[in-house]
Amino acid sequence: MRWGLIGASRIASSYVIDAIRVQPGLEIQSVLSSDASRGEAFARDNNIPDSYTDLDALLADDSIGAVYISTTNEKHHPQALAAIAAGKHVLCEKPLGMTLVEAVEMVRAAEDKGVVFATNHHLRNAGSHLAIRDLIASGRIGKVLSARVFHAVNLPEHLRGWRINDASAGGGVIPDITVHDADTIRFHLAEDPIDVIAKAGTSGMGEGVEDSVMSVWSMPSGAMVQTHESFTHGFAGTGIEFHGTDGSIFARNVMTQEPVGTVKLVDANGETDVAYDTHNLYHRALGLFAGAVAGSGRPSADGADGVKSLAVALAVREAARSGKAVDVDYGGF
Ligand code: NDP
Repeated sequence: MRWGLIGASRIASSYVIDAIRVQPGLEIQSVLSSDASRGEAFARDNNIPDSYTDLDALLADDSIGAVYISTTNEKHHPQALAAIAAGKHVLCEKPLGMTLVEAVEMVRAAEDKGVVFATNHHLRNAGSHLAIRDLIASGRIGKVLSARVFHAVNLPEHLRGWRINDASAGGGVIPDITVHDADTIRFHLAEDPIDVIAKAGTSGMGEGVEDSVMSVWSMPSGAMVQTHESFTHGFAGTGIEFHGTDGSIFARNVMTQEPVGTVKLVDANGETDVAYDTHNLYHRALGLFAGAVAGSGRPSADGADGVKSLAVALAVREAARSGKAVDVDYGGF
């Protein structure tokens, strides 16, 4: 199957082009950029035959079976709808859209057209997270009482740009990082937050968008979730913890794109280091996507997962704005 890349982005060149190419039978045919010379340079640098500035022209290529959308966030919705209408399978970056209505429309359109639609939530593909999920699902820590995510990083200089100064492009730490944490918590607990409270603000980087946020979520099981996301914390380190009636899981440096970090189980028997598989996160995601297109299995994070992670992130933003608890609206999913 041939792919078209919608967006001459860093995430495509850093991770996803390679992840497509390692899959048997997948190749990349084209890239879309809003700037002809940037698109041509991107195509040349990444050995991609065709570059376009016109989305319809890229989509008119019948040899393209799937597209990967990694433009800035406000473009995901119109580009995904066009790709779906053209009958292409879609792997879309998070957040799926700027609003819940947009995200729901994208996923429903894909269902109606019968194409595979997935969200590129990479964390649930990490061996560390798969090991954590297995510990929780197999009851090793008993009933989960609470979880804590700390995902406050120092956003590298080269990633700043629209993320820190352009609300209309979907900037801000909530659409950038909270949305991943929402997906990760949903993945581990197999349930969706009911309501959230939050505080957000700027702490040195955001220009017109929040660069830091803390929130607390209530889960249907009664578990409580505490999160912290930021662009401005150089030395905090990342991690995720789950505390249950029979044990706790402490994972450090695992909220990352690389297969690194540590996972520790603490229970009545003491502390145990948990081994996990160190495969490439994006390779796994693309493998599962290709499998789903071939009719076997499902993507690691599908469209509904993308809608729900966005729904939680939007609720966090609204709770921070209003100062009130906000029920999470999943748009019928
Ligand atoms: P980039 O800023 O690298 O790219 C986004 C867009 O910016 C591109 O589509 C491109 O537009 C434009 N652009 C790229 N380079 C330049 C430049 N030098 N000058 C002007 N414009 C430029 O974004 P990211 O790769 O960081 O993020 C893209 C999407 O992927 C976002 O939705 C983000 O949330 C998501 N993401 C997901 C990750 C994950 O692991 N799941 C990790 C990182 C990002 P054009 O295409 O028109 O040339």
